[in-house]
Amino acid sequence: MSVTAATLSHVYPLGSRVNERGRLEIGGCDAVELAREFGTPVYVVAEDDMRARARSFMDAVAARHADFDVLFASKAFPCTAVYRLLAEEGLACDVASGGELFLALRGGFDPARIYFHGNAKSDSEIREALTAGVGHIVIDSLDELARLEGIAAAVLDGGRRQEVLIRVTPGVAGNTHHAISTGQTDSKFGFGIDAAREAIARLRDAPHLDLVGLHFHIGSQLLELEPFRAAVRTIASLGDFPVYNVGGGLGVAYGSADQPPAIADYVEAVVSTVHAELGADKRLLLEPGRTLVANSTVTLYTVQTVKRNVSTWVAVDGGMSDNLRPMLYGSKYEALVADRPLAPANDPCHLAGKHCESGDVIVRDVSLADPVTGDVIATPVTGAYGYSLANNYNGVPRAPVIFCREGEARVVVRRESYEDLAARDVG
Ligand code: PLP
Repeated sequence: MSVTAATLSHVYPLGSRVNERGRLEIGGCDAVELAREFGTPVYVVAEDDMRARARSFMDAVAARHADFDVLFASKAFPCTAVYRLLAEEGLACDVASGGELFLALRGGFDPARIYFHGNAKSDSEIREALTAGVGHIVIDSLDELARLEGIAAAVLDGGRRQEVLIRVTPGVAGNTHHAISTGQTDSKFGFGIDAAREAIARLRDAPHLDLVGLHFHIGSQLLELEPFRAAVRTIASLGDFPVYNVGGGLGVAYGSADQPPAIADYVEAVVSTVHAELGADKRLLLEPGRTLVANSTVTLYTVQTVKRNVSTWVAVDGGMSDNLRPMLYGSKYEALVADRPLAPANDPCHLAGKHCESGDVIVRDVSLADPVTGDVIATPVTGAYGYSLANNYNGVPRAPVIFCREGEARVVVRRESYEDLAARDVG
């Protein structure tokens, strides 16, 4: 029996299918074999999916605008192999801390194509960014501006100047979870419109900083295009600049019923509004995170217990330590038994994690195909903010990352060991 990808929900990585053995296959690799070889929980990345989405994004912008860069918002999946892959695909990179800057450099990004964000940058992070020679520092507050001026005076030599952007909160709130909405007027991020005018005026005579443009990022997992257009219209009132960074935030499909805007439609909406409101001659930066990496990855778990209580609780060997999103945002995922994805999924249950919190439920109200101890469970769409939000709650070592391509699997992040858990303990 050979069954094509059409039988799997479109949320699985491109090229996923049910193989001749009737099992889930990701990047040409049998998921049950992967679970045996690498253990569970494990993040399984279909490398070709990630490359294909990066290319779609680049192509969509290139078809509409001449002077641009697509920045990987690396908080979504900050491991060396992902940085390297997206650098190979020609993307630039957004970092939001000294640690992400370190990883981006390690992953091979040209420092001039790394763009430094953060609402609470420390002096040492600012120094690291200036010393590395990042492309832009995105200024988030007047306090930061004052500190940056002082540190730039000390660090930049030979008349070198640092290009900066101002992060603006355009007063546009996308329809998303409040924790990932950032464009509203009262936000911890960026400058409101009036404060932005003040920052622009202050930067006019800054001896070491060149204000080249504006940035906004209004939120994450946005499924409507109008807020992006509205944000561009709002920042147009702040003057004319050579560079605009319009952030990320395009939503992805987590469930089979989800139909987010296509990358090309999103890019068309943004670019056409930029052309109409700001002009076609601008340097345009786009900063997607989730859109590039979310659907590339499937997490595999092994069922430890099946408890038939008022509900059926299927408990696996991971949970909120490898996927915090259900607990942080109430995010909904799909799941299936990777050993038999086509078997009727008619056992209603909750897919529970192993952590000592009742809220540690990976998928509530899911139906699985007669799950039993030892089955491998797959939850798709874990490539964004899964690895990056991972933690060691209950002393659980963090999961490895496996890249799969054309049937070959390679470890790009190894599983943490118990020794790793104590590696920083000095007392
Ligand atoms: N840019 C900035 C400044 C962000 O804060 C974020 C996410 O928090 C992103 C880009 C990427 O967002 P997303 O992953 O939703 O595309």
